[in-house]
Amino acid sequence: MVRRHGILFHLAGLAILAAALSACGLFKSEPKRLAIVYTNDVRGEIRSCGCATHDLGGLGRRATFVKVYRDTTKADFLLVDAGDFFSPSINYGKEKAEVTLKSMALMGYDAVVPGENEFSFGVEYFAARARAVGLPVVASNVVVAAADTLLFPASREATLSSGLRVGLVGVVSPTLKMPPQVAAGSLAIREPVAAVQAAVDALRPRVDVVVVLAHMNRGEVNKVAAALTGVDVVVNGHDGIPVRQVKRWGEPYVLQIAAKGLYIGAADATLGKDKRVAGIKNVVVGLGKTFRDDEAVAKLFQAYDLEVVAREKAVLPVGDAVTFAGANACQACHAPIFEQWKGTRHAHAFEVLTAQQREFDRDCTPCHTTGFFKEGGFVNAHATPQLSGVQCEACHGNGSAHAKDPKIKTDTVAKSTCRSCHTAEQTPEFDFATFWARIDHGSDSQAAGSR
Ligand SMILES: [Zn+2]
Repeated sequence: MVRRHGILFHLAGLAILAAALSACGLFKSEPKRLAIVYTNDVRGEIRSCGCATHDLGGLGRRATFVKVYRDTTKADFLLVDAGDFFSPSINYGKEKAEVTLKSMALMGYDAVVPGENEFSFGVEYFAARARAVGLPVVASNVVVAAADTLLFPASREATLSSGLRVGLVGVVSPTLKMPPQVAAGSLAIREPVAAVQAAVDALRPRVDVVVVLAHMNRGEVNKVAAALTGVDVVVNGHDGIPVRQVKRWGEPYVLQIAAKGLYIGAADATLGKDKRVAGIKNVVVGLGKTFRDDEAVAKLFQAYDLEVVAREKAVLPVGDAVTFAGANACQACHAPIFEQWKGTRHAHAFEVLTAQQREFDRDCTPCHTTGFFKEGGFVNAHATPQLSGVQCEACHGNGSAHAKDPKIKTDTVAKSTCRSCHTAEQTPEFDFATFWARIDHGSDSQAAGSR
């Protein structure tokens, strides 16, 4: 008994010793793996594409993926973006930029490098808003020309959960075409290799792994990566062309995924005894419906929707500007066709948007309404609800003259219009014969004016 007690005591003593050593960091298991989750070229796509098949992407799903991955991986976890997460050429680009910044801050990005698109609403806007939401921006070669100082810190260091120390350096291409909101000559871009190498050399004594976030085209990033020493992984953005774990002997891995945030990259890096990246298993994950929108990001979407609705309502009253006749005008003479159309998905196209609270989303409405972008056509759900859905005139053209005088034909050949909405991206499986059969209403004797 005494002996047994002695052993027990001995074991308990060891446990206490282990706990004490662990608290000192001496007994911690060495890090073996590092998960680098990365995004690039999202270009303001805050929500999923809404495609009929392959509905992918969106900040809400991304946040859920990140949360689940971070909470369940046994590896150290790093989250980075390689730029162009804004876009100047989409509707409500600046409002979407706000949702993007706040969402990325919520996800806990470890570092981002700016692309030229991040300056689309002014240099100061991006710098101030990133600072305000706590999004860490790094760029070793973006210089405020007048002061000859870096606009953002060249690098930052992160100590991950196992104690692994990671250095993150940003770099952009000197050939980037800055948007018009950047005053000519106000920013200077220094030669990339020297700028990154200086930042890496400064970090190296203190960190285990170095990740460079680059924003340049494919040819440039390969050259820069080949010229650097002491770098483990380069995550690149700008052209949105996927690159998967390019590595030549002695050079860092280069990673990049396709544009628009439909996918997220998850590189599972194995670390060697020296804690440097020894190998990478790169996985590209499609952000499908299985990832439900994160609640906090969903709240940002709601606020964005309210803002858009308020602004859309403030636009116009359109009144007499509406010239499209609407399907009800067609019904009088083409009743059987009208009834047939009512059973098609075209007739209910707008309900798809309403169900997703996207009825004011101008990235969606053109293909779910009648006469959008055309004079006298759909404006918004508030001003022109009668032109919601893909009605007769969406395919046949404005029918107001025809409605008054059946001898006047509508001006569009319906069969020529399908591809304007059923694009290769939105409807990759589009096949004319199959799709036409779903909406085919033939012709009736009264439809002389219709084509
Ligand atoms: Zn770019």
